[in-house]
Amino acid sequence: MTTAQTQPGPPPWRLLLGYVRPHRWALAAGAVLSLVTGATGLLLPLVARGLIDDLAHDRAITGALLAMAGLVVTNAAVGALGSYVLRRTAESVVLGARRSLASYLLRLRIPAVDRSEPGDLMARVTSDTTLLREVTTDSLVGLGTGGLTLVATIVLMGLVEPVLLAVTLAVILGAGLVLGLIVPRINRASRRAQDAVGAMGASLERVLGALRTVKASGAEQREEQTLHAAAQESWRQSVRAAKWAAAAGNTAGLAMQIAFITVLAVGGARVATGAVDIATLVAFLLYVFYLMSPIQQVVGAITQYQTGAAALTRIQEALRLPAEPPARPAPLPSADAPPASLAFEDVRFRYSDELPYVHEGVTFAVPARGMTAFVGPSGAGKTTVFSLIERFYEPGSGVITLDGLDLAEWELPRLRSAIGYVEQDAPVLSGSLRDNLLLGSPEADDTALAHVLKTTRLDGLVARLPQGLDTLVGHRGTRLSGGERQRVAIARALLRRPRLLLLDEATSQLDAVNEAALRDTVADVARTTTVLVVAHRLSTVTMADRIVVMDAGRVRAVGTHRDLVSADPLYAELAATQFLATADD
Ligand code: ADP
Ligand code: MG
Repeated sequence: MTTAQTQPGPPPWRLLLGYVRPHRWALAAGAVLSLVTGATGLLLPLVARGLIDDLAHDRAITGALLAMAGLVVTNAAVGALGSYVLRRTAESVVLGARRSLASYLLRLRIPAVDRSEPGDLMARVTSDTTLLREVTTDSLVGLGTGGLTLVATIVLMGLVEPVLLAVTLAVILGAGLVLGLIVPRINRASRRAQDAVGAMGASLERVLGALRTVKASGAEQREEQTLHAAAQESWRQSVRAAKWAAAAGNTAGLAMQIAFITVLAVGGARVATGAVDIATLVAFLLYVFYLMSPIQQVVGAITQYQTGAAALTRIQEALRLPAEPPARPAPLPSADAPPASLAFEDVRFRYSDELPYVHEGVTFAVPARGMTAFVGPSGAGKTTVFSLIERFYEPGSGVITLDGLDLAEWELPRLRSAIGYVEQDAPVLSGSLRDNLLLGSPEADDTALAHVLKTTRLDGLVARLPQGLDTLVGHRGTRLSGGERQRVAIARALLRRPRLLLLDEATSQLDAVNEAALRDTVADVARTTTVLVVAHRLSTVTMADRIVVMDAGRVRAVGTHRDLVSADPLYAELAATQFLATADD
C-alpha cells in the first residue's frame, strides 16, 4: 500500500451512513416501494383464484379481470418507480462520496502528496466510489427489507411452534458461523482487487505522464507487463471474491435445506408423540420455505457489503491523509498593496524524519521591494526555501516571517494570495492558454491580460496561434516549447500582482533575446514588489540587489555580486564556472 496508512479507523459503515444520511428518506421511500411491489405480486394468485372461482360459477369475470389488470399495472408502475428511486438515491450517494473526496484531495498537504500515487488516489475517487452504488441499493435496502421480512417470519414461526423455531434457529446459527468464516475472505479479496485497480491507475499515470521517455527508452513492453499484471491481479482477486460470495450464497441455501429436513424429522417425531398436530407441522414447513428468500437476501446484502466495505476503507484512508483546513480563497492584493518583507531565522527543515536535514539553520532577511537572487549548487536547498514560504511544508524549528509576522500565524489563503510563485518544473497545466494565465487571477481583465502578455513577450505567440488564447496546451503544456511554458507561468504569476514574487529558475529555458526582455520585466516589477529569484544566469544574478549564496542547507554569504566575488570563494567559483552567460553578457 503506497498511498495511505492502514491503521484501523472507524468501521466503514459509519462512513457509508454519513453519505447515505442526506438521502435517507428517498432510500426509505424506495425500499417501501419495492416492498409494495413484492406485496402486490403476492396478491396476484389470490385475484387469479377469484377469477377462476367466478368462471367456475358462471359469474361475470369483468370485476376480477379489472382487478387483475389494475394489480398488474400497479405492480409494474410501483416497481419501476421503486427501482428508479433506489437507483437515483444510490447515484446520489456516489455523487456525495465523489464530491467530498475530490474536495478533500484538493486540500491535501504537500508531504502527503509526495508520499502518494496520484493514479491510486484517482482510482479511489472514480472506481471505489462507484462500488458504493450497489452497497446502497443491494446491501442497505436488501438488509432492510430482507431483515424486516425475516424478523416477521420468525415471529410468526414462534407463534406457530416455538420448539421447531428453536430447531430452525439452531441450524441458521450454524450456517451463520460458517458465513462468519467466509465473509472476511470476500472483504480481503475485494480489498486486494481494488488495490490492484489503484496500482493500475498509478502505473497508467506514470506511463502516460512520461510516454515520450518510455518510448525513447524502449520500455513499452516492460511497462505493459506492469499494467497487465495489475489488471490480472484485480481479476484474480475479484474472481476469488466471487468464489467466496458463491460459497456464502450456497451455504445459506444449504442451511435452509438442512433446516427443512431437520424440522421434518423433529416435527415428525413430535407429531408421533402427539405434541404437535400435522397441520401445524405443515404450516411450519411452509414458513421454513418462506424463510429462504429473506435469508438469501440478507446473506446477499452481507456479501455485497464486503466489496463496498473494501472500497469504503480505501476512501477512508484517503480521507485520513493530512490535509489543510477548508478555507475560502482570499482576494488578491489590491493594486496599491505594499510589497512584502521576508525573513528566515535559523530555519531547520527536513522532508521527513528518516531523511537528513535539507536546511541546517537558514538565516537571511529580505526587505520590502527589490530583487534577491538565490544561488548555490544544485541540492543546496534553494527550491526548499520557496516551498517553505508557500507553506507547502512546515519548518522543523526556527521562524519564517512575512511582513514581520510568523508564517504559522498567517491564514493560508491570505498568505498564498500575497505570493506569485513560478515553480521550477512543469509550471503549466493542461487546458487552454487562457485557463493557464488566469489560473491564479480569474478576475483579471483584458487590459491587464494584454499588458502582461506584452511584458512576457507572449503576444507574438498568441497572435500566431490560430485559436489564440483558446489554444489547448496539452498535458503539462507539452504543446508549448520549454521557454513558452516558462513565460506563461511568469505571466500567470504577474497577473496576480503579487506582493512577493518567487521565480525558481523561471527563465532557465529562455533564449537570449527573451531572457533579456524578461529580465527587464522582472527588474521593473521589482521596483514595486519583492522579488526572489533562483537563477543560474550571470546576467540575472548581477542585477540583483542582493545575492544569497546557499550551500548544503546553509546560507554562506549575502551581498552584491561585486562584494561576493572577492569575499566568497564558492561564489567566485560559481560565477567563474557555473553561471550561464547569455549571448549579451
Ligand atoms: P535546490 O533547489 O537548491 O537544487 P532543493 O531545495 O530542491 O535544492 O533540494 C534540496 C534537497 O532536498 C535535495 O537533496 C533533494 O534531494 C531534497 N528534496 C527536495 N524535495 C524533496 C522532497 N519533496 N522530498 C524529499 N526530499 C526532497
Ligand atoms: Mg531547485
